[in-house]
Amino acid sequence: MKFGAHISIVGGVENAPLNARNAGCEIFQMFSRSPRGGKPADLTKEVVKEFKNNCQDNNYDSYYLHTPYYINFLSTNNRILKGSIEVVRQELERGDKLGVRATMTHLGSAKDIDSRDIVNKTAEALIATLKGYRGRNKFLIEIAAGAGQIVGDNFEQIAAIIKLVEGRDGSRPVRTNNKIGVCFDTCHAFASGYDLRNKQQVSKTFKLFDQTIGLNRLEVIHINDSLAELDSHKDRHANLGKGKIGMNGIKAILTYPKFKNMDFILETPWVDGEKTIKKDINILKKLRKSKI
Ligand SMILES: [Zn+2]
Ligand SMILES: [Zn+2]
Repeated sequence: MKFGAHISIVGGVENAPLNARNAGCEIFQMFSRSPRGGKPADLTKEVVKEFKNNCQDNNYDSYYLHTPYYINFLSTNNRILKGSIEVVRQELERGDKLGVRATMTHLGSAKDIDSRDIVNKTAEALIATLKGYRGRNKFLIEIAAGAGQIVGDNFEQIAAIIKLVEGRDGSRPVRTNNKIGVCFDTCHAFASGYDLRNKQQVSKTFKLFDQTIGLNRLEVIHINDSLAELDSHKDRHANLGKGKIGMNGIKAILTYPKFKNMDFILETPWVDGEKTIKKDINILKKLRKSKI
């Protein structure tokens, strides 16, 4: 079990491992480009080398990429749809260069699309994204939270999309280099109606996850408390113990028996520079010590 946080790449991706160390991370997550748009900086040989050296010097062998915020595989605007496919593919390849373990993305939200077409349309876009990709950087779908026709906010839908992309229904064969994985965000899941406030509920939620998606696909957990209520369909991250999941819930997630080797990443607010994130990491480290 390892803990980390989403880390800034100010000054270049090569600085991320140093920023991660300063925040007390054992693993980390980052963007490789501006999350709001624009062309990414080239990953030159020198940048990759410095990044990898900084990882090695600080004993980081597990780190993740998050794709930009504007990804929408359900956009009816062709420019946005094409851009999403292109950017996620770029991030898989850029991450592969950097030795990233996996890259998670949100799927987007559907406007003006019949709800019955959502799974098909998403799968089509993912097939286009992954076609011919042979890298080791694994592709992850992140469970989402939000109002309207947000895509990927329930286990059944994620499972159905994966099934189509991997061609197990026989209709859309696509060769992915490895299985599609899932990133479970505790804040998003909670806001989407999956209770995580105590041991019983945590166990119920992950049993359901196992039955629909399969725990073998769960690669990493975003460990965030939630300012918004259960089933509120609002995405509002809170620092650990400061939200509606609460410390009991956080503890129940960490002590879930199947998570002994899980990577946990914080995306909680940085209120006071590194201080609040360090505090959250220390909470996780203390909980780990107290029970394993
Ligand atoms: Zn997340
Ligand atoms: Zn979120």
